Amino acid sequence: MSAKIISGTEIAKQIREELKQEVQELKDKHGLTPGLVTILVGENPASISYVTAKQRTAHDLGFHSVQDNQPEDISEDDLLNLIKKYNEDTSIHGILVQLPLPKHVNESKVLYAISPEKDVDGFHPVNVGKMVIGEQCFLPCTPHGILEMLIRSGTETSGAEVVVVGRSNIVGKPIANLMLQKREGGNATVTICHTRTRDMAFHTRRADILIVAAGRPKVITADMVKEGVVVIDVGVNRIGKTPEGKAILCGDVDFDAIKEKAAAITPVPGGVGPMTITMLMKNTVQAAKQSAGLV
Ligand code: NAP
Repeated sequence: MSAKIISGTEIAKQIREELKQEVQELKDKHGLTPGLVTILVGENPASISYVTAKQRTAHDLGFHSVQDNQPEDISEDDLLNLIKKYNEDTSIHGILVQLPLPKHVNESKVLYAISPEKDVDGFHPVNVGKMVIGEQCFLPCTPHGILEMLIRSGTETSGAEVVVVGRSNIVGKPIANLMLQKREGGNATVTICHTRTRDMAFHTRRADILIVAAGRPKVITADMVKEGVVVIDVGVNRIGKTPEGKAILCGDVDFDAIKEKAAAITPVPGGVGPMTITMLMKNTVQAAKQSAGLV
């Protein structure tokens, strides 16, 4: 059996089309243009490429998009004042601070300074708390993207054994929480594995849906999964460069071997990655509608 490929690129394209239409309607009917600012501190090449991709997508969807570049040595106070300025700017509905920040800046302090109503990354404790108790909030983009991929690929989650590998605050913990919620895309029985898990293969072999966010190339091999599993590979690992200098990427699972056993699997690249940016855009449209009292 060769697995169905769940293409994040294709699903993201569908959602972006829906968003483009929604943005046009908001402009035509309500004179409302969703506004997103991305704040980049320093010149980390990976951060520059992430921010550029986010800005390009926002622009393509018809957003008011602002890229605010700040020097590496910006003081914490100046950065906090900048966020305060965007919190008060009514043309901006979503604020994204690209991580990581330089060491002299307290990352939590900066993220917590973003108004929860503009926290389109879903990292503010108010949004995290609301997510846990199942209230309407901005969901963190990568887990939100995974949820959409499962729903739109027709994967049954209710009653499923879901195993998540990784317990970070941006992927592992929130996706485990979302899969537990009593609603569409949830109702699963969830196990979370991490580096202290005694026998990881014992857990992964039980999984109907396996979500891997470890950041370790091919940490999941074919003998660790059962026939018919659905695999969501979140990992993005740079394992070399092409002769042209482009990064060669691979995920956290042994794709070629596991696709012969799985019912469905996401590729890397072209899996979870495109969904993350798309859900940021979806959250920004949501923030704009909320600001105008439309939802
Ligand atoms: P992270 O903060 O480094 O967390 C990794 C987690 O995996 C930790 O909880 C760690 O356990 C666990 N882990 C690491 N090696 C393990 C092993 N051998 N066995 C079991 N558990 C192991 O990483 P992250 O931010 O969640 O990101 C994970 C991966 O997803 C990275 O490759 C990242 O680039 C990728 N990512 C992709 C997207 C996207 O949009 N495609 C978005 C976010 C992240 P401990 O807690 O015990 O250390």
